[in-house]
Amino acid sequence: MIEESTGVLVVGGGLVGLSTALFLAWHDVPVTLVERHPGSSPHPRALGYTMRTAELYRSVGVRWPEIPAFRDGFRRVRVTSLAGERLEELPWESGNAPEADYSPADKIGLPQDKLEPLLRARAEELGADIRFGTNLVSFEQDETGVTGLIRDVVDGGERSVRAKYLVAADGHRSPIRESFGITRSGRGYLGTTRSVLFDARLEHLRDGFVQFVIDQPDLQAFLLSYGDDRWVLMLQSEEEPTEPEWRRLITSAIGVSDVDYELITTGRWEMRAAIAESYAHGRVFLAGDAAHTLPPSRGGYGANTGIQDAHNLAWKLAAVLSGQAGEELLDSYDAERRPVAWLCHQQLFARQDQQLVDMGPREAIEIIDDIALCFGYLYRSSAVLGAGPDLPPARRPDEWAGRPGTRAPHVWLDRDNDRVSTIDLSARNWVLLTVGGDWDLEPIPGLALDQVRADEVALAFDLKPGGGVLIRPDGYVAWRSQEAPADPRAAVSDALAELLSR
Ligand SMILES: Cc1cc2nc3c(=O)[nH]c(=O)nc-3n(C[C@H](O)[C@H](O)[C@H](O)COP(=O)(O)OP(=O)(O)OC[C@H]3O[C@@H](n4cnc5c(N)ncnc54)[C@H](O)[C@@H]3O)c2cc1C
Repeated sequence: MIEESTGVLVVGGGLVGLSTALFLAWHDVPVTLVERHPGSSPHPRALGYTMRTAELYRSVGVRWPEIPAFRDGFRRVRVTSLAGERLEELPWESGNAPEADYSPADKIGLPQDKLEPLLRARAEELGADIRFGTNLVSFEQDETGVTGLIRDVVDGGERSVRAKYLVAADGHRSPIRESFGITRSGRGYLGTTRSVLFDARLEHLRDGFVQFVIDQPDLQAFLLSYGDDRWVLMLQSEEEPTEPEWRRLITSAIGVSDVDYELITTGRWEMRAAIAESYAHGRVFLAGDAAHTLPPSRGGYGANTGIQDAHNLAWKLAAVLSGQAGEELLDSYDAERRPVAWLCHQQLFARQDQQLVDMGPREAIEIIDDIALCFGYLYRSSAVLGAGPDLPPARRPDEWAGRPGTRAPHVWLDRDNDRVSTIDLSARNWVLLTVGGDWDLEPIPGLALDQVRADEVALAFDLKPGGGVLIRPDGYVAWRSQEAPADPRAAVSDALAELLSR
């Protein structure tokens, strides 16, 4: 048997597994990813990614095309058919998020099957070893690592891969999660959805809308444009429609009988809201749908939450593997990311965005606005100093004003005739961002820390002259001294020692 070794073994080559490999490779961690399918799923699935996700991909050098159909967002309308009467526009329940300059990045509108190859290519460019057509057959862990048995699905060849850690991005059924007996809670099963993907020239019937709720006496369905002549029709049904039935349903949803279209594929998926009781088991970490499955009724709470899990976990694994941090840092992954999934779960059931299945009673809680949900989660863990227990779970960056536990706010800085965002400062290393004062520190052995003096951030980070913040490699404020500390070097190294369990 061929034996190999790597730093992290990632299981699953969907959006979250690929993102994990990408972010790990960005931090120079040796990573091997196995995905049993030969390529990305033909189902485009997710379409919209938040500005925060765009910030993360932008920071590691992923580039994506702009699709003209999504320039105005993902507007929805209730119609009798695509060509028929527009009954009412169905605005997303955004919680009155204000329009303002919160990010250097814009939302991404790109079908998932087009995004995944871009992530894979960039991860490979950065050195990740990505193996599609390879199944993880079994694994075991001990005190120093994880050993996985992987099998090539074409020639049956087996290899043993020894890794320090394993990331299970193996989807909502997650055999790895199940093997540990980690249970899930949440609203649970909500319904079974059938979908058909087809190719048709229907752009002229869109009128600026992307999503169509088809409301006919005999057909309640959801028609979605992927902006590239591919459309998906979804409906709730326990039975799989036959091909002639699908054709009849498509014609009825379009509302014009002489349109040519080609069926691409059909699919079946269960809508479910379920969150794992724990995101880690020893050296194994759950990410993405394996950790939390949320209905895609509200785009963004599925894929985006998973991508941000990957980003949160990657720098921590990198810090532990390089010796910059103690293993205790990894406990903060569950502590920080599981509450985010629960917040998304609550907000999803508090909003009335769903049009496809009965979501049950509405959660009677405050609707947190979209900007706060996109940028403003509060992390409470050992990797943050000073995020009090009484603080709300999410607020907008201007409300947090650089408080520890929140994403550093975006401020444009003028540098050498160029504009740089504070968001771009923390792509890889720790950053000490200061407002005047005597912060000129000697390098700290064994830690990559960039020092940036930027007096123009004082208001956004609520710093007095001489104050400063420590920003983690994932862009979150870990520590803040609003005023000048008596001994800046001691203050920073004490904070880092505590944050990194060094
Ligand atoms: C119709 C639809 C529309 C959606 N729209 C949105 C949206 O607009 N916005 C949004 O944020 N989310 C959306 N989602 C949700 C989003 O698609 C999922 O959250 C996302 O795909 C989860 O990615 P993942 O990588 O965690 O899991 P998956 O994509 O399920 O990937 C898991 C992978 O693991 C592989 N695997 C499992 N076991 C093994 C093994 N032993 N060895 C090797 N490989 C293995 C599987 O083959 C699979 O490819 C949508 C979902 C659907 C169904």
